Amino acid sequence: MPPMVNRQDIVYAFGMNRHVPLDRKLAVLQEHDTHRKWYSLDDERVCILCERRITGRMIDIWETRKGVFHLHCPTPGCDSVPRDWFYHGVPRQASVKVLRSQAPIIEFGGAAAA
Ligand SMILES: [Zn+2]
Repeated sequence: MPPMVNRQDIVYAFGMNRHVPLDRKLAVLQEHDTHRKWYSLDDERVCILCERRITGRMIDIWETRKGVFHLHCPTPGCDSVPRDWFYHGVPRQASVKVLRSQAPIIEFGGAAAA
């Protein structure tokens, strides 16, 4: 009997959680992902646990009745947390543009440039 009680408590607790709607996701991500900056829900990250490319839009966010947010990777069974979501590609930095415009164009054996 005691195990049943515990199990029901867990089900009850989950039942009270609310899925955070899309229009609140960005604000929650910006506040709770303290490791990286989110500029939009279309920002891409790579989850290092399941090696999947994810966007803010795809991230599963739940709010408990105590107002605690839980951020989950959209991959079923993946236990990653925001710390495990790395930038995909080149991070947005002003220096990237400067490098591009100032870098000399190197041609290898006269290969045609695009
Ligand atoms: Zn994952």
